This record gives sequence, C-alpha cells and structure tokens, in this order.
Amino acid sequence: MIGRLRRRDLLLRAAGAGVAAALPLPALAQGAGGRVVVVGGGFGGATCARTLKQLDPRLAVTLVESTPSRIYTACPFSNEVIAGLRELSAQQFDYEKLTGDGVALKFSEATSVDPQARTVTLGDAAKLAYDRLVLAPGIDFRWDALPGYGEAASEKMPHAWKAGPQTLLLRRQLEAMQDGGAVVIAAPANPYRCPPGPYERASLIAYYLKTKKPKSKLLVLDAKDAFSKQKLFQQAWKALYPGLIEWVSLSMGGKVTAVDPAAMTLTTDFATHKADVANVIPPQKAGPIAALAGVADRTGWCPIDPVSFASTLQPNIHVIGDAAIAGAMPKSAFAANAQAKVCAAAVATLLAGGTPTPPKLINVCYSLVAPDYGISVAGVYHLANGKLVDVEGAGGASPLANPEKTRAFEASVAAGWFRTITGEVFG
Ligand SMILES: Cc1cc2nc3c(=O)[nH]c(=O)nc-3n(C[C@H](O)[C@H](O)[C@H](O)COP(=O)(O)OP(=O)(O)OC[C@H]3O[C@@H](n4cnc5c(N)ncnc54)[C@H](O)[C@@H]3O)c2cc1C
Repeated sequence: MIGRLRRRDLLLRAAGAGVAAALPLPALAQGAGGRVVVVGGGFGGATCARTLKQLDPRLAVTLVESTPSRIYTACPFSNEVIAGLRELSAQQFDYEKLTGDGVALKFSEATSVDPQARTVTLGDAAKLAYDRLVLAPGIDFRWDALPGYGEAASEKMPHAWKAGPQTLLLRRQLEAMQDGGAVVIAAPANPYRCPPGPYERASLIAYYLKTKKPKSKLLVLDAKDAFSKQKLFQQAWKALYPGLIEWVSLSMGGKVTAVDPAAMTLTTDFATHKADVANVIPPQKAGPIAALAGVADRTGWCPIDPVSFASTLQPNIHVIGDAAIAGAMPKSAFAANAQAKVCAAAVATLLAGGTPTPPKLINVCYSLVAPDYGISVAGVYHLANGKLVDVEGAGGASPLANPEKTRAFEASVAAGWFRTITGEVFG
C-alpha cells in the first residue's frame, strides 16, 4: 500500500511538472499497471510510448506504426535534403531502442478503433485491447480541397510535406530544371504542419538556385497574409537572395485556387502561373485513424483536454502531436515531443488512480535560411480558461538587429536540437 501511494505521488509530481521523469521503480510484472496502445511512431507517439515505460515499467505499452519499411523518416531538416545540402539517410531512424526499453512494437496500420470495447484493429485484423489509447497519427492531406490536386498530381507537383520519396522527388526536379527556370511554392492557410516550414523551404531552395542556377526565380503563392518569423525571413531574403524570391500574400492574390499538373500551372483569383517546378503544400487534417476513432471534429483536427490530452469526444483516448488541437501550440516535432511527455505522465497518473495536474509546455521552432544562417521562435504555454495559451512575456523570436552575430550560432543550435530530439526519441 505504501509503495503504491509513493508511486502515485511520484507520478502526480511528474505530471504536474509537465515533464517526463524516469522513476526508480522496481521491475514489476508487465501489464499489472494497465495496457496502453500508442498509434503512430513519430515524434509524438514514439516519445509517449518510451516515456510511459520509463514512468511505470509495469505498464504494457504497445506502439503501432504503419510504415512498411519499419524506418521513420523525419521532416525537420528535410528542406536541407531538397536543397542538396543533406542526404535523406540522415533523416532516418529505426525503432530498435524502443524494443530495448520494453515497448512492444506492431508494424501494421491501425484501421479502426472501438471506443466502447476499447480495442484497436490492425491491418491483419488482429485486435489490441487497451485501457488507454494514445493516437499520434500526424497529418493527412485534404486531397479534395484544391481542384486539380490529388495523390496522382503530387507525383508531378510534389508536396514533400511527409518526408521520404516526395522529398527526393522535389530535389530531383530542382536538379533537372534548367538555369532560368521558375519554381513555385503554394503555401496553405492555417492550421497546418510546421508553420515556418514553407518559408524555410523557400529560403533553402533560393540558396540552391543562387549557388547552382542563378538565373532562376522562386515564387511563393500564399493563402495567408502573415506567416511565422515573417520579419526575420524577409530580412534574410533581402540580404541573401535579393530579387530571387517573390512572396504573394492572400490579399495580393496569392491563394492558389486550382492547379493543372499536365500544363504545370497554378491558378489564383488574379493570374495563372506557369512553373518548371511546383511544390504544392495542400490543406491538411489529422491522420485518418483520428476520424475513424471518432476523435476528429468538423475541422478535421482533434479537440483535447489540455491537462491530459484526452479526447473531448471519446473516452479513454488521448491525442497528441500534429493531429491535436493544442491551443496556441504550433504543429511541430518539438511540440509533439513535449505533449507526449505530458500525456504519458497523465496516462500513467490516471491508470494509477490519480488526477493529472495542469502542465506547462515549451516549443522552439528553428529554421534555416541558409546553411549557416538560423532563426528561431520560442513559446511557453500554460492553461487559461481551459486552453493552452502563450505565457505573456515568455518566449520570443531571434533579434532582428545585428543578425550577423547570432545567425551562425542559431544554425548550429538547430543542428544540435535535431541530434538531441532524435536521440531522445529513437536513440
Ligand atoms: C518540411 C518540414 C520541416 C519541418 N521542420 C520542423 C522543425 O524544424 N522543427 C519542428 O519541431 N518540426 C518541424 N516539422 C514538423 C514535424 O515534422 C511534425 O510536427 C512532427 O513530425 C509531428 O509529429 P507527430 O508524431 O504528430 O506526427 P509524425 O511525425 O507524422 O508521426 C506520425 C506517425 O504515425 C504513423 N501513423 C499514422 N497513421 C497510422 C495508423 N493508422 N496506424 C499506424 N501508424 C500510423 C505514421 O506512419 C507516422 O510515422 C517540419 C515539417 C515539415 C513538413
């Protein structure tokens, strides 16, 4: 009894701090603490599965991941791959270390969830029973949202918004383009995965064009009037790539309303643009299992209770990472990793009979504008009126003044962050 109370107390404190702590628990029978199934082995799901085992080794934790290669390909730094500055292999990680931590792995697709029976069905019809289910499926594309664009069109006009073959396709298209060609990026409206991502991509493609194909131009057609780290990006574009990048905002007619992959054109309300290379980043929603489980709302994303990341639509199911509606937090790998730890502590606490306490969360998004030129934006989030909101006065962006003093340093910090987070999740 005393042991149980102590364990509960430790879990409650871990949840309250909003961080995962490796608790010094004795090796106990697996499953005695409850069964947790985690769907999606990305930054959110893999972190959550691992943290759960660290918090309470008695939990039976199963991670379900659908990638046929059994290799995770990370998106952060994939814009460098597109610009020829890095190989895709540097983005790839296996799941061996998770098995070593006692996480059971199922390489299969979760195809349905029965919230009443508390079971997840896999592609081979096998069923996994759970006490708590964590969904971390990342994003899916709204293939019907942009006339002319669909899965087939993405083979001509890659999105490259899930790292892997699409990343390499966009890189090969840039390499095959003649000097003097036109590259067009179509950026979506909010919310979407990685708010600064399209602009980091524009920057690194501009770097490639400036160094390899200097007569070429890059047009960014945007469905928004403002974007993350905008002043920092635009300052850098003026300094590093004068005249190379043109950004067209929503109110200047930037929203792409249709594409024609055969003609390689992108149409807005005001004009039709011909591209030699077109990178179309379509509107997005939570990965399909979210809707199948009944945890996605009409927006396509998943409302959650920000204390525990429990779905507000279905019992005993939690949603983390890109799929979740996490208030002011952006959809980033940093955020998915932080949410995963809070969720793991909450799930362990709930299974131990406790009540999770409100967390504080942090996010930092780094972007590279050139290989040795990094910028960042940081946020700290707490609970107010049932929502995750910015802590006023905390966080902030890189300074606009004296850029030469900090940019190279921030580029190296960004690289260090990627090594650290991938080491923590997969290493
Ligand atoms: C170009 C680009 C650059 C980026 N740069 C950064 C950056 O610098 N910093 C940063 O913090 N973030 C960055 N991001 C964002 C980051 O990649 C995502 O926010 C992050 O991957 C979200 O993690 P997640 O776990 O929610 O989803 P994912 O990482 O997408 O993981 C979801 C996993 O679930 C699996 N899955 C889905 N459905 C099922 C199912 N039904 N059954 C089994 N498995 C399933 C998928 O195969 C996948 O492995 C970038 C994104 C892009 C596109």
